[in-house]
Amino acid sequence: MRLGYLLLAAACVSAPALAQPDYAPAVEADYKASLGALFDYFHRNPELGFLESKTAARMAAELKKAGATVTEGIGKTGVVAVMKNGDGPVVMIRADMDGLPVEEKSGLANASKARQVNLAGEEVPVMHACGHDVHITSMVGTAKRLAAMKDRWKGTVVFVVQPAEEPISGAKAMIADGIYTRFPKPDYALALHVSSGLGTGKVSASEGIQYSSADSLEILVRGVGTHGASPHMGKDPVYIGSQIVVALQSIVSREVMPLSPAVITVGSFHAGTRPNIISDQAKLEITVRANDEETRAQLIKAVERVARGVARTHGLPEDKLPEVRHVEGTPTTINDGALARRLNAVMVETLGKDGFEPFVQDGMGAEDFAYFIEKQYGVPGYYFAVGGTPQAAFDAEKAGGPPVPGHHSPLFRIDPEPSVTTGTVAMTAAVLELMKPGAAGETD
Ligand SMILES: [Zn+2]
Ligand SMILES: [Zn+2]
Repeated sequence: MRLGYLLLAAACVSAPALAQPDYAPAVEADYKASLGALFDYFHRNPELGFLESKTAARMAAELKKAGATVTEGIGKTGVVAVMKNGDGPVVMIRADMDGLPVEEKSGLANASKARQVNLAGEEVPVMHACGHDVHITSMVGTAKRLAAMKDRWKGTVVFVVQPAEEPISGAKAMIADGIYTRFPKPDYALALHVSSGLGTGKVSASEGIQYSSADSLEILVRGVGTHGASPHMGKDPVYIGSQIVVALQSIVSREVMPLSPAVITVGSFHAGTRPNIISDQAKLEITVRANDEETRAQLIKAVERVARGVARTHGLPEDKLPEVRHVEGTPTTINDGALARRLNAVMVETLGKDGFEPFVQDGMGAEDFAYFIEKQYGVPGYYFAVGGTPQAAFDAEKAGGPPVPGHHSPLFRIDPEPSVTTGTVAMTAAVLELMKPGAAGETD
Protein backbone atom coordinates (compact mmCIF):
# COMPACT_ATOMS: atom_id res chain seq x y z
CA MET A 1 0.00 0.00 0.00
CA ARG A 2 2.72 2.35 1.15
CA LEU A 3 4.94 1.31 -1.77
CA GLY A 4 2.05 1.76 -4.18
CA TYR A 5 1.54 5.28 -2.89
CA LEU A 6 5.22 6.09 -3.34
CA LEU A 7 5.21 4.76 -6.89
CA LEU A 8 2.12 6.80 -7.67
CA ALA A 9 3.75 9.90 -6.19
CA ALA A 10 6.87 9.27 -8.27
CA ALA A 11 4.75 8.92 -11.40
CA CYS A 12 3.01 12.20 -10.64
CA VAL A 13 6.19 14.25 -10.39
CA SER A 14 7.90 12.72 -13.42
CA ALA A 15 7.58 14.43 -16.79
CA PRO A 16 4.55 13.53 -18.90
CA ALA A 17 5.05 10.47 -21.08
CA LEU A 18 7.04 11.38 -24.17
CA ALA A 19 7.03 9.69 -27.53
CA GLN A 20 9.33 6.73 -27.02
CA PRO A 21 9.06 3.99 -29.59
CA ASP A 22 12.51 2.78 -30.72
CA TYR A 23 12.53 5.18 -33.69
CA ALA A 24 11.66 8.27 -31.59
CA PRO A 25 15.33 9.17 -30.96
CA ALA A 26 15.94 9.07 -34.74
CA VAL A 27 13.00 11.47 -35.25
CA GLU A 28 14.49 13.79 -32.60
CA ALA A 29 17.84 13.61 -34.38
CA ASP A 30 16.15 14.34 -37.74
CA TYR A 31 14.55 17.41 -36.19
CA LYS A 32 17.91 18.72 -34.98
CA ALA A 33 19.63 17.87 -38.27
CA SER A 34 17.10 19.12 -40.81
CA LEU A 35 13.38 19.11 -39.89
CA GLY A 36 13.78 22.12 -37.56
CA ALA A 37 15.34 24.17 -40.34
CA LEU A 38 12.70 22.95 -42.79
CA PHE A 39 9.91 24.06 -40.43
CA ASP A 40 11.63 27.41 -40.05
CA TYR A 41 11.75 27.82 -43.83
CA PHE A 42 8.03 27.01 -44.20
CA HIS A 43 7.08 29.27 -41.31
CA ARG A 44 8.96 32.24 -42.78
CA ASN A 45 7.61 31.61 -46.28
CA PRO A 46 3.86 30.92 -46.08
CA GLU A 47 1.81 30.99 -49.29
CA LEU A 48 -1.91 31.30 -49.93
CA GLY A 49 -4.12 28.51 -51.28
CA PHE A 50 -3.41 27.54 -54.91
CA LEU A 51 -0.40 29.88 -54.85
CA GLU A 52 1.92 27.54 -52.92
CA SER A 53 4.54 27.28 -55.66
CA LYS A 54 7.67 27.56 -53.47
CA THR A 55 6.20 25.30 -50.78
CA ALA A 56 5.18 22.68 -53.34
CA ALA A 57 8.60 22.74 -55.01
CA ARG A 58 10.34 22.32 -51.65
CA MET A 59 8.02 19.46 -50.66
CA ALA A 60 8.60 17.77 -54.02
CA ALA A 61 12.37 18.02 -53.51
CA GLU A 62 12.23 16.76 -49.92
CA LEU A 63 10.01 13.78 -50.75
CA LYS A 64 12.19 12.92 -53.75
CA LYS A 65 15.23 13.02 -51.47
CA ALA A 66 13.44 10.56 -49.17
CA GLY A 67 13.15 8.15 -52.10
CA ALA A 68 9.59 8.70 -53.34
CA THR A 69 8.50 9.14 -56.96
CA VAL A 70 7.09 12.63 -57.22
CA THR A 71 4.43 14.18 -59.47
CA GLU A 72 3.80 17.91 -59.23
CA GLY A 73 0.88 20.08 -60.32
CA ILE A 74 -1.97 17.81 -59.15
CA GLY A 75 -5.02 19.99 -58.40
CA LYS A 76 -3.08 23.11 -59.43
CA THR A 77 -0.21 23.24 -56.88
CA GLY A 78 -0.62 19.81 -55.22
CA VAL A 79 2.17 17.22 -55.02
CA VAL A 80 1.80 13.43 -54.97
CA ALA A 81 4.76 11.28 -53.92
CA VAL A 82 4.63 7.48 -54.08
CA MET A 83 6.93 5.25 -52.03
CA LYS A 84 6.74 1.57 -52.97
CA ASN A 85 8.06 -1.29 -50.90
CA GLY A 86 6.72 -4.58 -52.25
CA ASP A 87 3.20 -6.00 -52.03
CA GLY A 88 0.87 -4.78 -49.35
CA PRO A 89 -1.78 -2.19 -48.59
CA VAL A 90 -1.79 1.31 -50.01
CA VAL A 91 -1.80 3.98 -47.31
CA MET A 92 -2.32 7.63 -48.17
CA ILE A 93 -0.99 10.39 -45.92
CA ARG A 94 -2.35 13.84 -46.57
CA ALA A 95 -0.82 17.13 -45.42
CA ASP A 96 -2.25 20.54 -46.29
CA MET A 97 0.27 23.29 -47.05
CA ASP A 98 -1.49 26.66 -47.37
CA GLY A 99 -1.16 29.72 -45.15
CA LEU A 100 -3.70 32.43 -44.35
CA PRO A 101 -4.10 36.13 -45.21
CA VAL A 102 -3.12 37.14 -41.66
CA GLU A 103 -0.33 39.48 -40.54
CA GLU A 104 1.83 37.61 -38.05
CA LYS A 105 2.16 39.35 -34.67
CA SER A 106 3.50 36.39 -32.69
CA GLY A 107 6.77 38.16 -31.86
CA LEU A 108 8.69 34.99 -32.80
CA ALA A 109 12.15 35.27 -34.33
CA ASN A 110 10.97 33.41 -37.44
CA ALA A 111 7.69 35.36 -37.74
CA SER A 112 6.50 35.71 -41.32
CA LYS A 113 6.91 39.02 -43.10
CA ALA A 114 5.56 37.53 -46.31
CA ARG A 115 3.07 39.29 -48.54
CA GLN A 116 1.41 37.84 -51.59
CA VAL A 117 -1.00 38.92 -54.31
CA ASN A 118 -4.08 36.77 -53.75
CA LEU A 119 -6.29 35.24 -56.44
CA ALA A 120 -8.47 38.38 -56.41
CA GLY A 121 -5.41 40.50 -57.27
CA GLU A 122 -4.98 42.18 -53.85
CA GLU A 123 -1.68 42.16 -51.96
CA VAL A 124 -2.15 40.73 -48.47
CA PRO A 125 0.08 39.61 -45.59
CA VAL A 126 0.47 35.83 -45.25
CA MET A 127 1.04 33.70 -42.17
CA HIS A 128 1.02 30.04 -41.25
CA ALA A 129 -1.65 30.85 -38.67
CA CYS A 130 -3.21 27.37 -38.69
CA GLY A 131 -0.04 25.29 -38.35
CA HIS A 132 0.00 23.68 -41.79
CA ASP A 133 3.79 24.16 -41.68
CA VAL A 134 3.79 21.50 -38.93
CA HIS A 135 1.82 19.13 -41.18
CA ILE A 136 4.18 19.28 -44.15
CA THR A 137 7.30 19.14 -41.99
CA SER A 138 5.90 16.08 -40.18
CA MET A 139 5.17 14.50 -43.55
CA VAL A 140 8.83 14.85 -44.55
CA GLY A 141 9.82 13.42 -41.16
CA THR A 142 7.50 10.46 -41.70
CA ALA A 143 8.84 9.84 -45.22
CA LYS A 144 12.42 9.82 -43.89
CA ARG A 145 11.58 7.33 -41.12
CA LEU A 146 9.60 5.02 -43.39
CA ALA A 147 12.44 5.05 -45.94
CA ALA A 148 14.86 4.10 -43.17
CA MET A 149 12.68 1.23 -41.85
CA LYS A 150 11.65 -0.60 -45.01
CA ASP A 151 12.13 -3.93 -43.23
CA ARG A 152 9.14 -3.09 -41.00
CA TRP A 153 6.45 -2.43 -43.60
CA LYS A 154 5.25 -3.70 -46.97
CA GLY A 155 3.11 -1.92 -49.53
CA THR A 156 2.79 1.56 -51.00
CA VAL A 157 2.66 4.91 -49.24
CA VAL A 158 1.09 7.79 -51.15
CA PHE A 159 2.09 11.20 -49.78
CA VAL A 160 -0.47 13.83 -50.74
CA VAL A 161 0.61 17.47 -50.31
CA GLN A 162 -2.64 19.37 -50.63
CA PRO A 163 -3.12 22.99 -51.61
CA ALA A 164 -5.89 25.36 -50.50
CA GLU A 165 -7.38 23.66 -47.44
CA GLU A 166 -8.41 26.99 -45.92
CA PRO A 167 -10.74 27.95 -48.78
CA ILE A 168 -11.94 24.28 -48.67
CA SER A 169 -11.20 23.68 -52.33
CA GLY A 170 -7.83 21.91 -52.57
CA ALA A 171 -8.98 18.36 -51.78
CA LYS A 172 -11.75 18.64 -54.35
CA ALA A 173 -9.26 19.93 -56.94
CA MET A 174 -6.90 17.00 -56.33
CA ILE A 175 -9.73 14.47 -56.64
CA ALA A 176 -10.91 16.12 -59.86
CA ASP A 177 -7.33 15.88 -61.13
CA GLY A 178 -7.32 12.10 -60.69
CA ILE A 179 -5.72 11.42 -57.32
CA TYR A 180 -7.69 8.16 -57.07
CA THR A 181 -7.26 7.12 -60.71
CA ARG A 182 -3.75 8.24 -61.71
CA PHE A 183 -2.07 7.01 -58.52
CA PRO A 184 -2.45 3.83 -56.43
CA LYS A 185 -5.90 3.96 -54.79
CA PRO A 186 -5.52 3.90 -51.00
CA ASP A 187 -6.89 1.27 -48.66
CA TYR A 188 -6.64 3.86 -45.87
CA ALA A 189 -6.27 7.64 -45.73
CA LEU A 190 -4.56 9.37 -42.81
CA ALA A 191 -4.14 13.02 -41.84
CA LEU A 192 -3.22 15.11 -38.84
CA HIS A 193 -3.74 18.66 -37.62
CA VAL A 194 -1.69 20.43 -34.99
CA SER A 195 -3.94 21.84 -32.26
CA SER A 196 -3.18 24.90 -30.15
CA GLY A 197 -5.78 23.64 -27.68
CA LEU A 198 -3.96 20.36 -26.96
CA GLY A 199 -0.78 19.91 -24.90
CA THR A 200 2.48 19.01 -26.63
CA GLY A 201 3.36 15.32 -26.70
CA LYS A 202 -0.30 14.32 -27.02
CA VAL A 203 -2.54 13.23 -29.84
CA SER A 204 -6.31 13.07 -29.90
CA ALA A 205 -8.74 11.33 -32.23
CA SER A 206 -12.39 10.38 -32.35
CA GLU A 207 -13.94 7.02 -33.21
CA GLY A 208 -16.52 8.84 -35.32
CA ILE A 209 -17.27 12.48 -36.00
CA GLN A 210 -14.09 14.57 -36.00
CA TYR A 211 -15.18 17.72 -37.84
CA SER A 212 -18.46 19.22 -38.98
CA SER A 213 -19.59 19.94 -42.49
CA ALA A 214 -19.23 23.54 -43.68
CA ASP A 215 -21.10 25.28 -46.47
CA SER A 216 -20.76 28.87 -47.60
CA LEU A 217 -23.93 30.38 -49.00
CA GLU A 218 -24.47 33.79 -50.50
CA ILE A 219 -27.87 35.49 -50.50
CA LEU A 220 -28.42 38.36 -52.90
CA VAL A 221 -31.43 40.35 -51.73
CA ARG A 222 -32.73 42.54 -54.53
CA GLY A 223 -34.74 45.60 -53.58
CA VAL A 224 -35.98 48.70 -55.31
CA GLY A 225 -33.72 51.71 -54.71
CA THR A 226 -35.19 55.06 -53.77
CA HIS A 227 -34.66 58.16 -51.60
CA GLY A 228 -34.17 57.42 -47.92
CA ALA A 229 -36.95 59.87 -47.12
CA SER A 230 -39.47 58.01 -49.28
CA PRO A 231 -39.30 54.34 -48.28
CA HIS A 232 -42.83 53.77 -49.60
CA MET A 233 -41.50 54.36 -53.13
CA GLY A 234 -39.07 51.41 -53.02
CA LYS A 235 -38.30 48.03 -51.46
CA ASP A 236 -35.59 48.28 -48.82
CA PRO A 237 -33.10 45.37 -49.08
CA VAL A 238 -31.39 46.37 -45.80
CA TYR A 239 -34.65 45.94 -43.89
CA ILE A 240 -35.57 42.74 -45.75
CA GLY A 241 -32.02 41.39 -45.32
CA SER A 242 -32.16 42.13 -41.58
CA GLN A 243 -35.44 40.22 -41.31
CA ILE A 244 -33.76 37.32 -43.12
CA VAL A 245 -30.84 37.35 -40.63
CA VAL A 246 -33.28 37.03 -37.74
CA ALA A 247 -35.56 34.48 -39.44
CA LEU A 248 -32.63 32.21 -40.34
CA GLN A 249 -32.04 31.53 -36.63
CA SER A 250 -35.48 29.93 -36.41
CA ILE A 251 -34.20 27.12 -38.62
CA VAL A 252 -31.76 25.97 -35.92
CA SER A 253 -34.06 26.66 -32.98
CA ARG A 254 -37.42 25.49 -34.44
CA GLU A 255 -36.77 23.10 -37.34
CA VAL A 256 -33.69 21.03 -36.56
CA MET A 257 -34.06 18.18 -34.10
CA PRO A 258 -32.71 19.60 -30.81
CA LEU A 259 -30.11 16.85 -30.38
CA SER A 260 -28.56 17.48 -33.81
CA PRO A 261 -25.86 20.16 -33.64
CA ALA A 262 -26.33 22.94 -36.20
CA VAL A 263 -25.01 26.44 -36.78
CA ILE A 264 -26.11 29.17 -39.17
CA THR A 265 -23.93 32.28 -39.00
CA VAL A 266 -24.36 35.35 -41.17
CA GLY A 267 -20.73 36.41 -41.30
CA SER A 268 -21.08 39.35 -43.65
CA PHE A 269 -23.87 41.73 -44.68
CA HIS A 270 -23.13 44.43 -47.22
CA ALA A 271 -25.48 47.01 -48.66
CA GLY A 272 -25.82 50.66 -49.45
CA THR A 273 -23.54 53.66 -49.84
CA ARG A 274 -25.17 56.65 -48.11
CA PRO A 275 -27.53 57.29 -45.17
CA ASN A 276 -30.23 58.84 -47.36
CA ILE A 277 -30.30 56.29 -50.16
CA ILE A 278 -32.30 53.09 -50.01
CA SER A 279 -30.06 50.62 -51.82
CA ASP A 280 -31.28 48.29 -54.54
CA GLN A 281 -29.44 45.25 -53.19
CA ALA A 282 -27.89 43.61 -50.14
CA LYS A 283 -25.50 40.68 -49.99
CA LEU A 284 -25.39 38.25 -47.08
CA GLU A 285 -22.64 35.64 -46.67
CA ILE A 286 -23.44 32.68 -44.50
CA THR A 287 -21.69 29.66 -43.08
CA VAL A 288 -23.77 26.58 -42.32
CA ARG A 289 -22.44 23.76 -40.09
CA ALA A 290 -23.80 20.30 -39.31
CA ASN A 291 -22.61 16.94 -37.99
CA ASP A 292 -24.56 14.74 -40.39
CA GLU A 293 -25.46 14.90 -44.05
CA GLU A 294 -29.23 14.84 -43.41
CA THR A 295 -29.14 17.93 -41.19
CA ARG A 296 -26.71 19.59 -43.59
CA ALA A 297 -29.13 19.18 -46.52
CA GLN A 298 -32.05 20.28 -44.34
CA LEU A 299 -30.26 23.51 -43.33
CA ILE A 300 -29.19 24.45 -46.85
CA LYS A 301 -32.69 23.91 -48.21
CA ALA A 302 -34.27 25.85 -45.35
CA VAL A 303 -31.98 28.88 -45.83
CA GLU A 304 -33.28 29.31 -49.36
CA ARG A 305 -36.91 28.80 -48.34
CA VAL A 306 -36.70 31.28 -45.46
CA ALA A 307 -34.87 33.93 -47.50
CA ARG A 308 -37.39 33.76 -50.32
CA GLY A 309 -40.32 33.53 -47.92
CA VAL A 310 -39.28 36.66 -46.00
CA ALA A 311 -38.86 38.55 -49.28
CA ARG A 312 -42.35 37.49 -50.40
CA THR A 313 -43.75 38.69 -47.06
CA HIS A 314 -42.37 42.13 -47.83
CA GLY A 315 -43.99 42.20 -51.22
CA LEU A 316 -41.13 41.43 -53.55
CA PRO A 317 -42.43 39.93 -56.80
CA GLU A 318 -41.47 36.37 -57.78
CA ASP A 319 -38.89 37.56 -60.30
CA LYS A 320 -37.15 39.66 -57.63
CA LEU A 321 -36.91 37.04 -54.89
CA PRO A 322 -33.44 36.56 -53.35
CA GLU A 323 -30.95 34.39 -55.15
CA VAL A 324 -29.25 31.86 -52.89
CA ARG A 325 -25.93 30.61 -54.21
CA HIS A 326 -23.93 27.69 -52.80
CA VAL A 327 -20.35 28.98 -52.97
CA GLU A 328 -18.36 26.10 -51.47
CA GLY A 329 -18.75 23.28 -49.01
CA THR A 330 -17.17 20.28 -47.39
CA PRO A 331 -18.82 17.20 -45.89
CA THR A 332 -18.40 16.02 -42.30
CA THR A 333 -15.04 14.41 -41.47
CA ILE A 334 -15.86 11.07 -39.89
CA ASN A 335 -13.21 8.63 -38.75
CA ASP A 336 -13.87 5.01 -39.67
CA GLY A 337 -14.87 3.37 -36.35
CA ALA A 338 -12.88 0.12 -36.60
CA LEU A 339 -9.82 1.85 -38.05
CA ALA A 340 -9.92 4.55 -35.35
CA ARG A 341 -10.22 1.99 -32.53
CA ARG A 342 -7.24 0.13 -33.96
CA LEU A 343 -5.08 3.22 -34.43
CA ASN A 344 -6.12 4.90 -31.19
CA ALA A 345 -4.80 1.80 -29.41
CA VAL A 346 -1.55 2.22 -31.36
CA MET A 347 -1.35 5.85 -30.20
CA VAL A 348 -1.70 4.79 -26.56
CA GLU A 349 0.97 2.13 -27.08
CA THR A 350 3.28 4.60 -28.83
CA LEU A 351 2.85 7.75 -26.74
CA GLY A 352 1.79 6.28 -23.43
CA LYS A 353 -1.55 6.56 -21.63
CA ASP A 354 -1.03 10.29 -21.05
CA GLY A 355 -0.19 10.79 -24.70
CA PHE A 356 -3.68 10.09 -26.01
CA GLU A 357 -7.01 11.82 -25.42
CA PRO A 358 -10.31 10.90 -27.02
CA PHE A 359 -11.29 13.74 -29.33
CA VAL A 360 -14.23 15.84 -28.18
CA GLN A 361 -15.61 18.50 -30.52
CA ASP A 362 -15.54 21.92 -28.89
CA GLY A 363 -17.08 23.77 -31.81
CA MET A 364 -18.10 23.09 -35.38
CA GLY A 365 -14.82 23.44 -37.26
CA ALA A 366 -14.49 21.75 -40.64
CA GLU A 367 -11.81 20.14 -42.81
CA ASP A 368 -11.78 19.35 -46.50
CA PHE A 369 -9.96 16.03 -45.85
CA ALA A 370 -13.60 14.90 -45.72
CA TYR A 371 -13.63 14.80 -49.54
CA PHE A 372 -10.96 12.09 -49.67
CA ILE A 373 -12.96 9.82 -47.39
CA GLU A 374 -16.43 10.41 -48.79
CA LYS A 375 -18.46 7.18 -48.83
CA GLN A 376 -18.47 6.95 -52.64
CA TYR A 377 -14.68 6.31 -52.71
CA GLY A 378 -14.73 3.55 -50.09
CA VAL A 379 -11.51 4.80 -48.45
CA PRO A 380 -11.70 4.60 -44.64
CA GLY A 381 -10.09 7.58 -42.96
CA TYR A 382 -8.34 8.39 -39.71
CA TYR A 383 -7.72 12.00 -38.73
CA PHE A 384 -6.01 12.97 -35.52
CA ALA A 385 -5.00 16.13 -33.69
CA VAL A 386 -1.43 16.69 -32.46
CA GLY A 387 -0.74 18.88 -29.42
CA GLY A 388 1.00 22.16 -30.18
CA THR A 389 0.99 24.11 -26.89
CA PRO A 390 3.29 23.41 -23.92
CA GLN A 391 1.44 22.66 -20.69
CA ALA A 392 3.22 25.65 -19.09
CA ALA A 393 1.32 28.02 -21.42
CA PHE A 394 -2.04 26.53 -20.33
CA ASP A 395 -0.96 26.79 -16.67
CA ALA A 396 0.05 30.43 -17.15
CA GLU A 397 -3.32 31.20 -18.74
CA LYS A 398 -5.13 29.57 -15.83
CA ALA A 399 -3.09 31.68 -13.42
CA GLY A 400 -4.31 34.85 -15.13
CA GLY A 401 -1.54 35.10 -17.75
CA PRO A 402 -1.97 35.67 -21.47
CA PRO A 403 -4.53 33.42 -23.15
CA VAL A 404 -3.21 30.71 -25.48
CA PRO A 405 -3.91 32.11 -28.96
CA GLY A 406 -6.20 30.08 -31.17
CA HIS A 407 -5.88 29.07 -34.80
CA HIS A 408 -6.12 31.87 -37.38
CA SER A 409 -5.05 34.43 -34.75
CA PRO A 410 -2.14 36.77 -35.65
CA LEU A 411 -0.68 35.67 -32.30
CA PHE A 412 -0.91 31.94 -33.12
CA ARG A 413 2.23 30.19 -31.92
CA ILE A 414 2.78 26.53 -31.36
CA ASP A 415 5.95 24.90 -30.14
CA PRO A 416 7.35 23.44 -33.37
CA GLU A 417 9.77 20.80 -32.08
CA PRO A 418 7.36 18.68 -30.00
CA SER A 419 4.58 19.30 -32.55
CA VAL A 420 6.64 18.02 -35.47
CA THR A 421 8.33 15.16 -33.61
CA THR A 422 5.07 13.92 -32.05
CA GLY A 423 3.28 14.31 -35.41
CA THR A 424 6.04 12.35 -37.13
CA VAL A 425 6.20 9.60 -34.52
CA ALA A 426 2.41 9.21 -34.39
CA MET A 427 2.00 9.14 -38.17
CA THR A 428 4.89 6.69 -38.54
CA ALA A 429 3.32 4.45 -35.88
CA ALA A 430 -0.03 4.48 -37.69
CA VAL A 431 1.57 3.56 -41.03
CA LEU A 432 3.70 0.78 -39.50
CA GLU A 433 0.59 -0.71 -37.90
CA LEU A 434 -1.40 -0.70 -41.14
CA MET A 435 1.50 -1.94 -43.26
CA LYS A 436 3.24 -4.43 -41.02
CA PRO A 437 3.86 -7.58 -43.04
CA GLY A 438 0.79 -9.82 -42.74
CA ALA A 439 -1.46 -7.10 -41.24
CA ALA A 440 -5.14 -7.73 -41.78
CA GLY A 441 -7.45 -4.89 -42.61
CA GLU A 442 -10.65 -4.27 -40.74
CA THR A 443 -12.83 -1.22 -41.16
CA ASP A 444 -16.43 -0.23 -40.49
ZN1 LIG B 1 -7.34 26.80 -40.50
ZN1 LIG C 1 -5.84 24.12 -40.62
